[in-house]
Amino acid sequence: MIIVMKPNSKDEQVQEVCNVLKSLGLGVHISKGTQVTIIGVIGDKSVLTDVPIELFPGVDKIVPIMESYKLASRTFKPENSEIDVGGIKIGGKEIIVMAGPCAVESREQLLETAEKVQKCGAQILRGGAYKPRTSPYSFQGLEEEGLKYMAEAREKTGLKIITEVISEKSIEIADKYVDMFQIGARNMQNFHLLREVGKTKKPVLLKRGLSSTIDEWLNAAEYIMSEGNYNVVLCERGIRTFETATRNTLDISAIPVIKSKTHLPIIVDPSHATGKWEYVLPLSRAAIAAGADGLIIEVHPNPKCALSDGPQSLTPENFRELCDSIKDIANLLGRTFQGAVA
Ligand code: PEP
Ligand code: MN
Repeated sequence: MIIVMKPNSKDEQVQEVCNVLKSLGLGVHISKGTQVTIIGVIGDKSVLTDVPIELFPGVDKIVPIMESYKLASRTFKPENSEIDVGGIKIGGKEIIVMAGPCAVESREQLLETAEKVQKCGAQILRGGAYKPRTSPYSFQGLEEEGLKYMAEAREKTGLKIITEVISEKSIEIADKYVDMFQIGARNMQNFHLLREVGKTKKPVLLKRGLSSTIDEWLNAAEYIMSEGNYNVVLCERGIRTFETATRNTLDISAIPVIKSKTHLPIIVDPSHATGKWEYVLPLSRAAIAAGADGLIIEVHPNPKCALSDGPQSLTPENFRELCDSIKDIANLLGRTFQGAVA
């Protein structure tokens, strides 16, 4: 449930209510909006049966939260959250683009890609060091060596860096290098892993599971947030449907639905959604037009030779075209995207 305070309520009144809730063993999360302060209450509400919270000074009303997720819900926090990734804000007016190879393959491949995507306007470099591949015989990633190249690319270009984590051990190692963790589609319901990234303070990009409903996805976000890490960005990356013409089916409707159900930002991954590079540009446009806060795009200097996901990877030239195009759409919608810088 949430406790909505009156618009003119005083800080001491908010504190008094919070103290009572905490003394009853309930979790308390304060959301201070421009108009009203909302106190989110987590835990077993039955302890409140004999405590008339609505009579406390400054309290306007008590509203139950119907969804199974609380901290992620928009009822709990009506204002959009902006997630800070090393100074880059996701969820504000500016469109954020993450780009880079599916997997870090070598120092040269990564540094070349980083330099090129930075010039086109990307703010964050993606690169897989731990690859959860469908086949155990496919390239599994360079692990820590790959993370060292990512950190070097950040030094050289100023891009922030994101990588996927797949286990407690990889969280521990990646924590030393990256600005943001990625939880992949296959791990969206790995609740132990979600709790582990929730125990860190690092922003987390949470991809939607291959066959997950929006409700399940938001509950996965709740797992991370319930451990105290509220820095969650959602990523729609296509879901499994009967259609086989594309690798997955991009659920564009997830964008407005997510915007109505949660305050968390959402970005879109048209690369994994389609599996084919030629569909990445039109779906990027659609994603921004539908209100996404950003994109994550696979870019490779030579897609034909990529060790993973070559068919869906853009060349740097195609990526530049994409950035130019989404800049125009962003501007039409009153948003901004820096676009090409060189
Ligand atoms: C990836 O981003 O490299 C990836 C494996 O994506 P997903 O988890 O969405 O399949
Ligand atoms: Mn990939």
